Amino acid sequence: MTSVLDRFLRYVRYDTQSDEQSTTYPSTEKQLVLLRDLAAELRGLGIADAAVDEHGYVTATIPATTATNGVPTIGFIAHVDTSPEMSGAGVKPIVHESYDGRDLVLPDDSNAVLRVRDIPELADHIGHDIVTASGTTLLGADDKAGVAEIVTAAAHLVAHPEIPHGPVRIAFTPDEEIGRGTKYFDVAAFGAAWAYTLDGGARGEIESESFSADAMTITFHGFNTHPGYAKGRMVNAIKIAAAFIDALPHDSLSPETTDGYEGFVHPYVVQASVDRTSVKLIVRDFVTAALEEKEAQLSALAERAAARFAGARVEMAIEEQYRNMREILDRHPDVVARARQAIRRAGLEPRSKPIRGGTDGSRLSFMGLPTPNLFAGEHNFHSRLEWVSVQDMEKAVEVIVNLVRVWHDEP
Ligand SMILES: [Zn+2]
Repeated sequence: MTSVLDRFLRYVRYDTQSDEQSTTYPSTEKQLVLLRDLAAELRGLGIADAAVDEHGYVTATIPATTATNGVPTIGFIAHVDTSPEMSGAGVKPIVHESYDGRDLVLPDDSNAVLRVRDIPELADHIGHDIVTASGTTLLGADDKAGVAEIVTAAAHLVAHPEIPHGPVRIAFTPDEEIGRGTKYFDVAAFGAAWAYTLDGGARGEIESESFSADAMTITFHGFNTHPGYAKGRMVNAIKIAAAFIDALPHDSLSPETTDGYEGFVHPYVVQASVDRTSVKLIVRDFVTAALEEKEAQLSALAERAAARFAGARVEMAIEEQYRNMREILDRHPDVVARARQAIRRAGLEPRSKPIRGGTDGSRLSFMGLPTPNLFAGEHNFHSRLEWVSVQDMEKAVEVIVNLVRVWHDEP
């Protein structure tokens, strides 16, 4: 039987980088190559309805093996695209067998070294087989580890019809890394009561809380004239924006100064001209109501900056991005409780971790499909030093199989 490692090594060789500049869906044609091959692979396993829809989503059903009534349909979801931040072309995966704490020097760039000193999590993986890329690309464990785990668990379930379970649905999605993974996801057609994304970190982790997220655009309007004749007339919007950015707290409320459950505001793009300068910010907090407080604070700082420049004007727009999935998952406590049971059955201690970001599960939860995120073994996402443990991937396969059993035994 094909192992999760075999599949993983095969999938990472597909270049499936998504592209936020693109206006098509999926954002890149190359993602469809893997998506189509995955549908064919699932059909080859005997999953007859596996197919790619017009948006690129692969869905498939493993029919129930039990006659018991009331066993819910549960879903498993992973994304095929890799981050636009780092090349995913020509990935050469390397398996470093029986890791013993040594430095892992990647052959295509001698500066790319995985050291326990820099990456303490490596110390928890002594004796594991570690997979890395070769030093010039990302690996793509985010999220091909999740894809490989779901396909391998599906193969196991199909080969073992004696395992009693309800209907299991599978979905592979494009464009998660650019925040569009759920854009055309048809929750009703998917038909699961709840789902799990396999797109997390170390073994045992379960993520059921994410940030709540807004985007804010603050535009300062100045007045441009010929600089030689500007006295008393020019109002420089660049300087107003600079005053605003400088007024942001220097030692709190930023990505550089917060962790755990702390939120932040983060200017990340400035489009500048004398006449008009806009500052784009993201606003993040685990408590949705606290977003409004942060936005009020930003708005006050922007008004104050503009007030220092006679004739300046400021305009603000807020856009909702996603919300903390916990608001939904708290209403369905079984979804996380069953996952914890499945993790325990695999001999692991479940550990909860807040996601300082969003996942497709954050959006899906609010679209009517409660979806926490389970560990897939991924580390150092979006980096040349990305790595995954083979033994953690095997544990994730076990957890998926356990989950369908747990939902059968205690629906
Ligand atoms: Zn991911």
